[in-house]
Amino acid sequence: MRITELRLGTLSIPLKKPFKTALRSTDTVTTNIVALVSDTGAVGYGEAPPTAAITGDTDGSITCTLATRIAPALIGRDVSELQDAVSAVAHSAVGNTSAKAAADIALHDLWGKLCGQPLYRLWGGTKRTFTTDYTISLNAPEEMARDAVEAVRDGYDALKIKVGIDFRLDMERIGAVRRVVGPEVLLRVDANQGWTPKEAIRTIRYMEDEGLDIELVEQPVASHDIEGLKRVTDAVETAILADESVYSPRDALHLISLRAADMLNIKLMKSGGLSGALTICGMAESAGMECMIGAMMESKVSVTAAAHLAMARRVVTKYDLDPPILCASDPVRGGVIYDGAVLELNDAPGLGIDSVEGVAWGESVKG
Ligand code: MG
Repeated sequence: MRITELRLGTLSIPLKKPFKTALRSTDTVTTNIVALVSDTGAVGYGEAPPTAAITGDTDGSITCTLATRIAPALIGRDVSELQDAVSAVAHSAVGNTSAKAAADIALHDLWGKLCGQPLYRLWGGTKRTFTTDYTISLNAPEEMARDAVEAVRDGYDALKIKVGIDFRLDMERIGAVRRVVGPEVLLRVDANQGWTPKEAIRTIRYMEDEGLDIELVEQPVASHDIEGLKRVTDAVETAILADESVYSPRDALHLISLRAADMLNIKLMKSGGLSGALTICGMAESAGMECMIGAMMESKVSVTAAAHLAMARRVVTKYDLDPPILCASDPVRGGVIYDGAVLELNDAPGLGIDSVEGVAWGESVKG
């Protein structure tokens, strides 16, 4: 099976309500879809949303990198030589992790199709269902409490609360949510880099003293402040999860060696796809560190890839794959199936995606 063409398209899916964090606000999932076409007619799908506020990747940088750096490195390659192909993607340019992720995911999809097996099975996974948490956007405390009640009523038993704007108000936000959902619901807090180390320590100690029973706090401080992250991790009992501070396996190695966080949040758009994510899983496992699998605001194409990884690696113990739930429609035929909070992979080869509807196909690069 040889790669003959890389096609690029865009997909826009409205959200049910705006998604707000300390870093950004959006009301649609806007993403770039990649189709790698092979000489057998099999197509591998990948995806890269432009999350410039987090990854630095824009529509322009993603499509340009895919068309001018990645496509020439892939066209003509034999899919059975997967390691050579993923390495060509990884070395096609410095940075540009979202564009690399799209190509890496599409390559793995094709490889799964070539092998006739779903990816999670090719990696030795046996389980194919799991439960995701649900994100409560950053708003006024009362509104967040209302959203939390609604989510619990809809059947979610793990919530991720977005904070990180004004640590005093954040304490109110977290307290308001805990009060209305009761003690049984699992609460995670994501500050998206919004606190200084001192604010983080103060806020987390407050949550501990108030008995708010927070499972973990994600990315309390600026992404580059690894020393500050370690200071927070050392100062509190609550588990600290690194997100924006860990992109590549090299970042993971650095954080692990310093014990700057207790857990790592893996996202394919940060790791440059499944290959880098698998490497991070191996490192975390060796260090006895658990991982969360997360996503940017992505469609079900790349979220399905993340779900396959989650089912293939036991070190992934926490699941934050709710973006497709936040969307008003689902244009992806096949892939992971959502039944409320429960996700189930199908047993079709590769990602198990049949087609993606509503894509505005644009540029095509051929051999
Ligand atoms: Mg996060």
